[in-house]
Amino acid sequence: MQRIAVIGGGITGVTSAYALAKRGFNVTVFEKHRYAAMETSFANGGQLSASNAEVWNHWPTVIKGLRWMLKNDAPLLVNPRPSWHKLSWFAEFIAAIPRYADNTTETTRLAIAAREHLFQWAKDEQIEFDLKQQGILHIYRDKAGFDHAARVSQLLAKGGLERRAVTPDEMRAIEPTLAGSYHGGFYTESDATGDIHKYTNGLARAAAKRGVQLNYGHHINDIGADENGAWVSATVDNETTRQSFDSVVVCAGTGSRAIAAKLGDRVNIYPVKGYSITVQLDDEASQQAAPTVSLLDDETKLVTSRLGNDRFRVAGTAEFNGANRDIRNDRIQPLVRWVEECFPGVSTQRVVPWAGLRPMLPNMLPKVGPGRLPTVFYNTGHGHLGWTLSAITAEMLADAVDTAQATSLAVSR
Ligand SMILES: Cc1cc2nc3c(=O)[nH]c(=O)nc-3n(C[C@H](O)[C@H](O)[C@H](O)COP(=O)(O)OP(=O)(O)OC[C@H]3O[C@@H](n4cnc5c(N)ncnc54)[C@H](O)[C@@H]3O)c2cc1C
Repeated sequence: MQRIAVIGGGITGVTSAYALAKRGFNVTVFEKHRYAAMETSFANGGQLSASNAEVWNHWPTVIKGLRWMLKNDAPLLVNPRPSWHKLSWFAEFIAAIPRYADNTTETTRLAIAAREHLFQWAKDEQIEFDLKQQGILHIYRDKAGFDHAARVSQLLAKGGLERRAVTPDEMRAIEPTLAGSYHGGFYTESDATGDIHKYTNGLARAAAKRGVQLNYGHHINDIGADENGAWVSATVDNETTRQSFDSVVVCAGTGSRAIAAKLGDRVNIYPVKGYSITVQLDDEASQQAAPTVSLLDDETKLVTSRLGNDRFRVAGTAEFNGANRDIRNDRIQPLVRWVEECFPGVSTQRVVPWAGLRPMLPNMLPKVGPGRLPTVFYNTGHGHLGWTLSAITAEMLADAVDTAQATSLAVSR
């Protein structure tokens, strides 16, 4: 049985390990934290959103982004200090603009394909993760935003997604708690939400039952590979050990770029910071006043999910400021204010802030499959949609490892 090392215990590492174990591989996960899903897969927006598949490589988005750079509480913030990493990333981001329509359609297709696996695994393994299958409502305050969304809907439809335009009255019927005045919305009934942290930990336990070795508290400080195999060097409690494997799969989120460089590959992931707040719905009145349908406010770029009865998550913003995880109050306050404006009956007395780094590739598509060497694989760089896409990219990764194994067996015969 082939021995495979998976680097990273976030949603991509755990789904990869699970998909590989189901196919009979002998899998070991290396995760530097003591538990699964402690970095970007900790407190994200919660949306399983094919309806948010639009990639950002689009001139109108770039122009809007440039205007936002002048405003302190805008959804986008770019540290103007240049770095080679940031400049090369932006240059590749611009170069991917001609692929905007195709990449949006492709992401939609992947997001739809992911659902079947993600829900089936939760059912098979009895994972409770505050799943809500009540759809996602995109909301627009003006005609320009609504008209752009109508054009995006055509790209989403090409990828197989049905989302319908709704009037302000229909919006109120879909989510009666939403306050404010709107031009209209788009509703995607088939989208869902859930707690990524609960899901990842549930699936990690299920993977362990299927024989996956979960090496938590293992920091990979060095790694190497050749045509015949791979090795990893891990530090645990100040002691370093080295182990050999037939193959390695890199799922290290924003850490994947540095690991890929050691393996001879260029994976130009930039850490794009985002924030979330989890509003604790402690009293009955707040529980009634908070939405149950998930929302995406395209103007403020905020997404929401209702996690169980007593938690309401709001997430968003994009910050290009390197691997900086500081939680800034001036970036958190707009999220709190948004809740107060849209859901005035919700108490914001107890709000838990969080910041995470989206592992984002310039063309906004994840890197899934083999690297330069036949013993090295990637499932990483999922950007703003890692929760949504994780189950299908894990299956694609497992397909790639399967194919490589079959090819090497055929050659050795
Ligand atoms: C504010 C915000 C909101 C978001 N909302 C949504 C949403 O609504 N829907 C959606 O689909 N996606 C959303 N995302 C994106 C999604 O959360 C990410 O794409 C996803 O969590 C990335 O998973 P990952 O496994 O690639 O990375 P991570 O979860 O960061 O996992 C990588 C793991 O690798 C480990 N690691 C790295 N280097 C090493 C090393 N050297 N040794 C050992 N371990 C190592 C890390 O400790 C980490 O646990 C959001 C992201 C943010 C920031």
